[in-house]
Amino acid sequence: MKILVLNCGSSSLKYQLIDMENEKVLAKGLCERIGIEGSVLTHQATGSEKVKINKNLPTHKDAVELVFETLLDKNTGIIKSMDEVYAIGHRVLHGGNKFTESIVVDDNVKKAIKDCFDLGPLHNPANLMGIEACEQVAPTKKNVAVFDTTFGMAMDEKAYLYAIPHEYYEKYGIRKYGFHGTSHSFVSKETIKFGNLAKDAKVIVCHLGNGGSVSASIGGKCVDTSMGLTPLEGLIMGTRSGDIDPAVVQYICNKENKDVNEVLNILNKKSGILGMSGGISNDFRDVENAANEGNHLADVALKAFKYRVAKYIGAYVAAMNGVDAISFTAGVGENDKNSRKEICDYLGYLGVKISDERNDIRGEERLISTDDSKVKVFLIPTNEELAIARETLKLTK
Ligand code: ADP
Repeated sequence: MKILVLNCGSSSLKYQLIDMENEKVLAKGLCERIGIEGSVLTHQATGSEKVKINKNLPTHKDAVELVFETLLDKNTGIIKSMDEVYAIGHRVLHGGNKFTESIVVDDNVKKAIKDCFDLGPLHNPANLMGIEACEQVAPTKKNVAVFDTTFGMAMDEKAYLYAIPHEYYEKYGIRKYGFHGTSHSFVSKETIKFGNLAKDAKVIVCHLGNGGSVSASIGGKCVDTSMGLTPLEGLIMGTRSGDIDPAVVQYICNKENKDVNEVLNILNKKSGILGMSGGISNDFRDVENAANEGNHLADVALKAFKYRVAKYIGAYVAAMNGVDAISFTAGVGENDKNSRKEICDYLGYLGVKISDERNDIRGEERLISTDDSKVKVFLIPTNEELAIARETLKLTK
């Protein structure tokens, strides 16, 4: 049984075809520059060379058509007929207050995704375009929407309500939603399974990529998470500021004669380690290289990033009154042993001890704490596509 997983951006479409018998990826690829001149599909069937197909792709429907053609092609393909694709799972950024679980798409679901355009203006319209493209190209297939926000729907009111007049929550649904939910859910459950922990284990997941967030969960159910109404809140990220005194926005507006939208754009796209390092890069490797060459601002940016992660871990230990395991995941979390080590160095008071030998790995599921560490620390690679495929199969079988 094969599931196609789609992650649509405004001009891109990422896909994976997964065989659910063994949960292995059969093929994956990326359409870029949809609706822009020079569109291209990069496709790779597992075990084969990457192929690039240059073809004009004015809409997401054209992109989905090309993905199916490529999957069916006798040279590049992996399936003989569309019938082999059982269902299609879609990553959808924002489900607002409406979805506490993934759901099979119908007209009501599409309307609800549309109602959340204001909450996810960059992603939700593209996600919906992907769903509608599949409905047109493969009308017999069921589509499942898997929301980045459903994990956070388990939070208690005291965690998700902002201390602003309550009418704004009632009128506009302004609350903490949290993002990377599919990853946090996958990694927290995988931590319990891999670590052979109790079913109700208290787990803190540090998803540290270009975007980053930390979550606290008990038995895989979210207690708190660092992103908010939008993915801007929380950690210092590649280009996002994370937590900041909101008065800074007003201050910059007044001093620089900018409006709120311009300053929010700066907080989203020009801040984080990119902004703090004086503009070096939003890529952690570039900033690390600059720090190693003696660049002070680069060094401070990375130190501030790790310090903020450690503060969130401390806060979440308090929120759960304890922690059984801490897991690192995503680009930085899976690849950068120094960040993992330096973050854990703040946690000596919890009895956290990292084994340098065990920590000397990348991208592998592994215990990285010592045997006498009071809290187990793991590296657990995230796999959002597999999590989406599992949800899709569960809901359509
Ligand atoms: P996103 O999905 O949010 O775009 P990823 O999870 O792919 O992000 O993570 C990308 C980030 O991971 C990049 O900023 C990159 O610098 C960082 N990264 C990857 N490998 C390493 C490494 N070896 N050391 C430090 N950072 C790394």
